[in-house]
Amino acid sequence: MIPSLRVSVWSACDLACLYCHKEGNRHPGRHLSDDEVLHLIRAAIPQGLVKVKITGGEPLLRPHLSDLLKQIVRWGLEVSLTTNGTRLALWAQEFREIGLSKVSVSLDTLNPERFRNLCGADRLPLVVGGITAARDAGLPLELNTVLMAGVNEHEWDELIAFARKMQARIQFIELSPATQSREFYEHHHVSLDHLEQLLRTQGEMLEGVRQEGDRPRYRFNGVDVNLCRVVGKTPVPGPRRRGLRLSADGKVYGFEYQQDACLADLAAAYRAGARESELTRIWAQAGSLIHPINQKEVLFHETEFSGKRRRSYF
Ligand code: SF4
Repeated sequence: MIPSLRVSVWSACDLACLYCHKEGNRHPGRHLSDDEVLHLIRAAIPQGLVKVKITGGEPLLRPHLSDLLKQIVRWGLEVSLTTNGTRLALWAQEFREIGLSKVSVSLDTLNPERFRNLCGADRLPLVVGGITAARDAGLPLELNTVLMAGVNEHEWDELIAFARKMQARIQFIELSPATQSREFYEHHHVSLDHLEQLLRTQGEMLEGVRQEGDRPRYRFNGVDVNLCRVVGKTPVPGPRRRGLRLSADGKVYGFEYQQDACLADLAAAYRAGARESELTRIWAQAGSLIHPINQKEVLFHETEFSGKRRRSYF
């Protein structure tokens, strides 16, 4: 079964974040056409598909994006979208009318100079303007913040205050070892344990929603705060676990970025004339290769670079 799918609709981006992992696909092939995107998603519906998250690169750069979104929503699927926010102000009202269930915006800092150094462009005002427009349009909003030592780890409380003002929840994400540069990871990786300790003592742990072992959720100063850790210790073979992702060039992967091999090439199958039932069978086969998150398995994560091993317990 494939309850959720992450669909990259555009591999390019108008920012150049130092930690970008390019969704594990650094040399994408030909982008799927609108027709191909829709056929491939529709073929996953018989596999229990309920949720689709639209991603990039930057998905708002894709031409005809709203036509794609409208059609997917028309099928009764829950559609959310992640964006870097630079163009969100132009889209917020339309997204609200289409009925997106959530818009997640990357925001690592509120400091313009830090933003420029980290993301390679002077666009913080555009991002803040996009988030504000989304709030004003009444879109369910989530801010995604990659926490980095020596960069923004001291900004967490300011970012939570901003999230409160924007009526958004916020998710602090552990820097992934899949980032472009190992040196960057080595210098800036920080465990989320310290922040979790603060949230645990000064906030309230929320039960029920997304309580997988690596994604605890807290209520802190009136804001829902998620922690999202990298899962690197895998006691089961093969790619993990929360669902599948479809790349902009039509290949299927697990949700992790650094190690996963391509599970299927749906674009090639479709272009070779596969019917929808055959595509559904390929989805099913790919789905059988991933494993559901098991909270008991995710007790710690472990990474190793340059002979140094780091382990963080939850
Ligand atoms: S906004 Fe996202 S896709 Fe674009 S460069 Fe930054 S991390 Fe990569």
